[in-house]
Amino acid sequence: MATTEDPQAQSLTRNVQHVVLGNLRFQTWYQSIYPEELVSKDTDILYVCRWCFRYSCGIDTHASHTRLCPHRTTPPGVKVYDHAGYSVWEVDGADHKLFGQNLSLFSKLFLDHKSVFFDVVSFLYYILVFTDPNTGDNDPNETYHILGFFSKEKLSWDANNLACILVFPPYQHKQLGKLLMGVSYKISRWEQDSSLIGGPEKPLSEMGSRSYGRFWEERIARHLLLRSSSDGNDAAVGATLAQFDDSKTQKPASNRGRKKHPYELMTVQEIGRATGMLTEDVITALRGLGAVEPATPSKTRKGMQSSSGDGEAIPVVIRRSKVLEWADAHKVSIREPVREEGFCLSQSEHAKNRELVIPDSDEEE
Ligand SMILES: [Zn+2]
Repeated sequence: MATTEDPQAQSLTRNVQHVVLGNLRFQTWYQSIYPEELVSKDTDILYVCRWCFRYSCGIDTHASHTRLCPHRTTPPGVKVYDHAGYSVWEVDGADHKLFGQNLSLFSKLFLDHKSVFFDVVSFLYYILVFTDPNTGDNDPNETYHILGFFSKEKLSWDANNLACILVFPPYQHKQLGKLLMGVSYKISRWEQDSSLIGGPEKPLSEMGSRSYGRFWEERIARHLLLRSSSDGNDAAVGATLAQFDDSKTQKPASNRGRKKHPYELMTVQEIGRATGMLTEDVITALRGLGAVEPATPSKTRKGMQSSSGDGEAIPVVIRRSKVLEWADAHKVSIREPVREEGFCLSQSEHAKNRELVIPDSDEEE
């Protein structure tokens, strides 16, 4: 994910100043914990294999490794997504321990907030790969590029669908983080089982909050726009914020009859179930969209002013026109960053997921 960290301020504490990854040389941002006997504290350039992240301070050792790297033609693991040259491969840390460790060490050079997990066995790594169909034939070294990854705990008690995410610096600002985040939601399988709804591991770093904030806003905006467009008119959406507990959710069906709302009533939990997002993340996104207004204080009950009261419903209105405005201003494509057809699932699983297919219009690419 993108950042504007100040590399200068960090340079004194960094053990490695630059890395060479394939044919790219770039500056590191943070300290990693490479073993000192192999990577001294004042290493200017660390050579890293772009296929397996094996590292070396010497260019000769590096060169002889890359000629023989076992992963030079195909990434490790199993392909789970493939669309338009971009693919995502699931690498089990238990099967590829060294790969997991070397990837963690390398990514730590660009992540400050997460500790590197050496317990790679309990993690899955999803690496983002780009294969340029035009270069492979001309240059045998140009097989594929790993652009970033995210990791995920195999068993997360906190319903985390992602632990760490990083797009390597040379590939940032290309919307690739959104692609990875989209994949992380999809493979959490919340569509099959809503008890699997989750989100990234918290707390998020500053850059993580920014990236996720935007990703969630877009996801919710798409959901609201596509959903309400079926109603035809510019109906507002009534939601209830500050309801964190599903059991206290007011049922929209019971409300619908009693007052003639010009709104479609839904709860934050329902939005969450439709988008696979945690209630707290839905609320963050709704606020970020700036489309939330307090509902007109009608004759209604105490709920309106409920202080910070737990469980009290605070009705709000989300105007579709505001969401549209937001989407316009931020040039948000109605199309999801990941394509449904890109997932390498069995046909029956595909069929089950069809409901999420987004219409083919309004592309920005
Ligand atoms: Zn290698």
